[in-house]
Amino acid sequence: MAGHAQQRRTGLNCPQCNTFIETTILQLLTSSALICPSCRLRLNIDRMKSKPAFDALRKVQMAQKNLEEKSKFNG
Ligand SMILES: [Zn+2]
Repeated sequence: MAGHAQQRRTGLNCPQCNTFIETTILQLLTSSALICPSCRLRLNIDRMKSKPAFDALRKVQMAQKNLEEKSKFNG
């Protein structure tokens, strides 16, 4: 279980109560809405408008994958 603490959190802050809504990149890409766990605000995910954000998230995901590949070689 070592190395688990390094895991990066993915998510966004609720525009209404500013609670950090933790989610996964996969969830962002596949679901149509997120619900704030604090105030129950429904955040619709507009894929067209959010495309630059999704591209950025995808790059983060790729970078993390590359890191995992590299750590395999080092280990
Ligand atoms: Zn909220």
